Amino acid sequence: MRVGAVIVAAGRGRRLGAERPKQFVDLGGNPLLAWSVRAFAGHPDIERVVVTLPAEWAETPPKWLPDGVSVHAGGVARADSVRIGVGALAGEVEVVLVHDGARPFASAGLISRVIEAARRGPAIPVIGVDDTVKRIDDRGRVIETVPREDLRRVQTPQGFPAKVLAQTHALADAAAWGKHDAAGMTDDAMLCERLGIDVSTVEGDPSNLKITTPRDLSIARWMVESGLIPSR
Ligand code: C5P
Repeated sequence: MRVGAVIVAAGRGRRLGAERPKQFVDLGGNPLLAWSVRAFAGHPDIERVVVTLPAEWAETPPKWLPDGVSVHAGGVARADSVRIGVGALAGEVEVVLVHDGARPFASAGLISRVIEAARRGPAIPVIGVDDTVKRIDDRGRVIETVPREDLRRVQTPQGFPAKVLAQTHALADAAAWGKHDAAGMTDDAMLCERLGIDVSTVEGDPSNLKITTPRDLSIARWMVESGLIPSR
C-alpha cells in the first residue's frame, strides 16, 4: 500500500509570541518545520509528502524543503488545511498520515507504528495521563475527579486509509462541521468518532512534543542540545 503524509503548518502560531510564524523559528540550526518534514520525507515507507503553509509562505516555498515535497496554501481552520492536503494526494496513495508541523520530533519508529495500524483502519498514537484529572465548572470549582486509567493524550501523526479520510472530510463538509465548529475540531480522528468509525490506538512517544508556547520551544531546544533527539 502506498503511503502519503500531510503536514499541516498553515497556522499563525501566535501563542509562541515570536516575530515569525512558529513553524519557521530556529530549532538547533534548522527551522522547526524542517524537522517535521524531514521525519516524513526520509521515512522509507512514505512516498509522498504534502505541506500546507500560510498563503504568503506557500507562494515561494522555503529552499530547505526536501525534493518532491509539495506545498499548498492552507485554510482558515486546521481541518480546512487537512482537507486541502488530503485533496492534493487524492488517488496517489492508499494510506494517509496527518501530522502537525508543530511536532518536530516524530520518530521513525512512531511513524512506522502508525502506518502499520492505519493499513487496517484509522489509528492514532496516544500516551497515558500522569496527573490526577478533574472536571471543573465555569467558576473554577471542582465537579469531579475523572478516572485517568481511561484517559489518553493524543498525538500526531494520525493514520487513515485514504478512502476513509476523504469520505469523512466530504461528510464533514456536507454537514458544515468544519465551518461552524472548526475550533472544536482539534484532531482528525474526531471526524471518525462522529461518524461511528472505529479508531485504534498505538503507543505514542513522550518526546513527540507539540510546540505551542515559548516554554515548549525552550524544552525542544534543550532536547536537541542535550542529544536526547538525534539531529536530522
Ligand atoms: O492551533 P494548533 O496548534 O492546534 O495547530 C495545530 C497544527 O495545525 C499546527 O501545525 C498549525 O500550523 C496547523 N494549522 C493549519 N491551518 C490552520 C490552523 C492550524 O495548518 N488554519
